[in-house]
Amino acid sequence: MARISSRVVRFIQQELKQNGHRPGASDGRLGPKTEQALHKALRPRNEELPAAWDGWPRTRLCTGYVQLRCRDEGVNPGAIDGFWGTQTDYAVNVIRERIVNERIAPSFRDADELDPLREHRWPRQVQADVVKRFGAVGKHQVMLDLPYTHRLAWDRAQRIQRYSCHEQVHDSLLRILTRVYEHYGEDGIEHLGLDLFGGCFNQRRKKGGTTWSMHAWGVAVDYDPANNRFRWGWERAGFARPEYDAWWQIWEDEGWTSLGRARNFDWMHIQAPHL
Ligand SMILES: [Zn+2]
Repeated sequence: MARISSRVVRFIQQELKQNGHRPGASDGRLGPKTEQALHKALRPRNEELPAAWDGWPRTRLCTGYVQLRCRDEGVNPGAIDGFWGTQTDYAVNVIRERIVNERIAPSFRDADELDPLREHRWPRQVQADVVKRFGAVGKHQVMLDLPYTHRLAWDRAQRIQRYSCHEQVHDSLLRILTRVYEHYGEDGIEHLGLDLFGGCFNQRRKKGGTTWSMHAWGVAVDYDPANNRFRWGWERAGFARPEYDAWWQIWEDEGWTSLGRARNFDWMHIQAPHL
């Protein structure tokens, strides 16, 4: 059976807690407390489980529980059999995304009330809207003087004090990075790789497509690509970890969109335009 990553276990522990059980600390480890909570959570659902489920090992209990949660949420996890297959993997990603988004939603609503123009701050990423707002690709670029020194992601010895971006996102980026610096400090930034620059302005097409990338206008920026590879989901991507919550809050307060947070791929990529 596939091994369940500690991040999936942590998510399941949080789910248990949300649903009134006591799995102990959400530490991503399948210990006896979590096992006990799984038994308690599954017992009333005996009818929905295969015979002798209560003799399952921990990982299988854990999988069985999250499969039931997926079904509760109306997402088909395949058979409720305690085995982690591709269908279960897909379903868990879907419900986790939904649950995380709901948790974020209230602060968005508050922000909307404070700033009714928030939704209109950036255009949708439809090419016509982006052109209308930002002009032709590659134009209107300015240099952003960084509030803290960056390192080039693929050559960390190379220090960067400024990078090119669109003039209309310049002030917003400056506010964001200033807040990041104030929140995390130099040590936190280096420790978390918030200074690992993966590129902003780059006049290129989208991966495998014919339309322009948001990078072609300098309205998207990549951070720490090595730990946030294009195809990685939240189980692997560094930026999906809880210590980055403030980092994301700061970007989202300015209306920027993380592809990782919104679509669960390309966690390195953050852009001003909405999806
Ligand atoms: Zn990107």
